[in-house]
Amino acid sequence: MTERMETIASPKRTKELLQKYGFTFKKSLGQNFLIDGNILRSIVSAATLGPAAGALEIGPGIGALTERLALDSGKVVAVEIDQRLLPMLKESLSAYPNVSIVHGDVLKIDLHALFREHFADVDSVSVVANLPYYVTTPIVMKLLEEKLPISSIVVMVQKEVADRFAANPGSKDYGSLSVAVQYYTIPELVIRVPHTVFIPQPNVESAVVKLSMREKPAVEVQDEPVFFEVVQASFSQRRKTLLNNLVKFFPEGGKDACRQFLERCGIDPGRRGETLDISEFARIANELYLRKGK
Ligand code: SAM
Repeated sequence: MTERMETIASPKRTKELLQKYGFTFKKSLGQNFLIDGNILRSIVSAATLGPAAGALEIGPGIGALTERLALDSGKVVAVEIDQRLLPMLKESLSAYPNVSIVHGDVLKIDLHALFREHFADVDSVSVVANLPYYVTTPIVMKLLEEKLPISSIVVMVQKEVADRFAANPGSKDYGSLSVAVQYYTIPELVIRVPHTVFIPQPNVESAVVKLSMREKPAVEVQDEPVFFEVVQASFSQRRKTLLNNLVKFFPEGGKDACRQFLERCGIDPGRRGETLDISEFARIANELYLRKGK
């Protein structure tokens, strides 16, 4: 497609659009729009799209990233919650017939139905977004838990959240979110992002991360709900030992039963959850599942 006027992300075009529609930012919806073409290119190139690929965007704002996605992929579907942005997007993206805007809350939308409706004819789909920071974790968890047919998730998030996604055992950032993300994906930091590329500027640091979906989860677990229950419980009180955090799974035998169980799993009951790697959590969960079945 021939380059038209200035891109939507240019500060000039963004200001014009905002003024024309008298748009005022809603902090409660995490509205920090991107105004830097280089960052947009870094985000989109990390997703490795192409004409046969589809992109699901969450929160298009006035369409800065959507435009870049429309140029670099075959089909873009963008879900936006704020009704006031719909006429603005209609104008800003009018030159891109491969874009569909869906009005709604991504946390409530039936994403499987959306995929069936819009992505039946693409080879692969990536989620690419500058996420609203107030709902980053529920959005990412929804995308992972619903087991959507996606190849990667490339998202701008708070730097602190990016660190938690990729954290290793023993680090202060390591927690149940790290285990869940690493169970389904391989996370990598794409780029750290300065405040100056947004309007308005957020007062937290930002980073772009890529979560590449694994073909199968990182570890084999007999029962996912039990696995995630064990992980949650292990981190429920970070200062407590595994023995104290997991004793709730032994309502009859109490601490003695829990201690024996952990020793049978080959795990020191005095360790803290934050020292366990994903395969150790899987070992505990699988043993617990077997025990429950007995
Ligand atoms: N993509 C645009 C950009 O990069 O300039 C805007 C990104 S802004 C950080 C987040 C966007 O997500 C806003 O447009 C906001 O209205 C939208 N949003 C917030 N919560 C949402 C939700 N639950 N579902 C869908 N969109 C949401």
